[in-house]
Amino acid sequence: MIKEVKPEKASLENYKKIVKPKEYEEVLDLAKKLKGASIIHLNATASGGGVAEILNSLIPLLSSVGLSPKWYFIKKVYKFFEITKEIHNLLQGKAGDLTKEQKDFYLAINEEIAKEMRDLKPDVWVMHDPQPAACLQFLPTIAKTKSIWRCHIDTSKTNAKVWRWFSPSLKKYDRYIYSVRRYIGEGLDYKKCVIIPPAIDPLNQKNSEMDPLFAKQVVARFKIDTERPLLSQISRFDPWKDPWGVIDSYRIAKKKFPNLQLALIGSFSVDDPQAYDVKEELKVYANGDKDIHILSNLDGIQALEVNAFQRVSDVIIQKSIREGFGLTVAEAMWKGKPVIGGRAGGILEQIEDGVNGFLVTTAAQAAERITQLLDDENFARRIGEKGKESVRSRFLITRLLRDHLKLYNDLLS
Ligand code: UDP
Repeated sequence: MIKEVKPEKASLENYKKIVKPKEYEEVLDLAKKLKGASIIHLNATASGGGVAEILNSLIPLLSSVGLSPKWYFIKKVYKFFEITKEIHNLLQGKAGDLTKEQKDFYLAINEEIAKEMRDLKPDVWVMHDPQPAACLQFLPTIAKTKSIWRCHIDTSKTNAKVWRWFSPSLKKYDRYIYSVRRYIGEGLDYKKCVIIPPAIDPLNQKNSEMDPLFAKQVVARFKIDTERPLLSQISRFDPWKDPWGVIDSYRIAKKKFPNLQLALIGSFSVDDPQAYDVKEELKVYANGDKDIHILSNLDGIQALEVNAFQRVSDVIIQKSIREGFGLTVAEAMWKGKPVIGGRAGGILEQIEDGVNGFLVTTAAQAAERITQLLDDENFARRIGEKGKESVRSRFLITRLLRDHLKLYNDLLS
């Protein structure tokens, strides 16, 4: 039911040149007290989406500073992921309910997961998101073992009926990590809540420096004309990310910039079965427009290609309606690109409207910003530079590493 992921090794030393010396020393200091501590992270998938992205960097860095972390994910159980995607949608506020059969199946899989993990006995469990959240109640209580539920979504405007069913399984946890304070779900013990915003890894393949000419060559492989303006949204094919709104924005902006191209890039992950339908619907919505490129990992888009697209695009859009955090926003800002974000969730934590990016609600507003940025290259560059600096000070992986170390110290001391 679960499988271990072993990401590539990393060394904290390599981050010295990017991070402030004080932050670097703080990490080393916090890690000293945690030598050998075993920390087990469990999430739904080894690739695709923001959680896997973060664990791919966090786990090797925890090892590099002397801890003993492990990362497990849940193996393909299609029906389970169909149900958990529905739970995800309901917890984000969708109307409706689960059937008794769906609830029983969810709990049965969580019980199975717990059975496989009962002998691991780490110092700290970190369960990510709703998928494995309920398994803690099926694990034996061990005095020395602490537990954390890491919630990456907004559970504040949740479907009340589903939250009433789901939230009791969280009671046993020692801590809850949320990305943003206002996301905390009703009834959770406030004293147990810790706020740790997500972060990006400036040295992984997706975010590290890239020769501009090479980036153009990579993008050109996907039949994009790199001499013409390009607008991109790089995001799972998910209704909450409003890809239809992105097409609408592009169509309005194209009236002023007939040369404009649009790339909608999404990845498929096993825990997101809805994505296939959304992609098909988008193809229909694009209505044969040759300048709309709908691409995915199935076409060969991997981390390097995402990096190249984020660098080559003139404007990056992330028009989400609900958004836990929106790593794609930080990724694009780190590359000095102007970002237009939906006025939603974690995007509000990252973009200060008109200062380091733009916030929009409607397609017309987004189109206005797209044309403004395409019209004035210097303005676009200034906004991009501001964005990069805000990511450097708040959303790099070393800050996240420090926050995790602080929390483990707090739990284990
Ligand atoms: N992503 C990717 N390929 C794609 C689309 C997205 O690698 O085709 C990555 C993206 O770069 C980011 C993550 O998936 O690192 C998405 O994280 P985000 O927080 O934006 O959204 P989530 O998928 O977690 O809702």
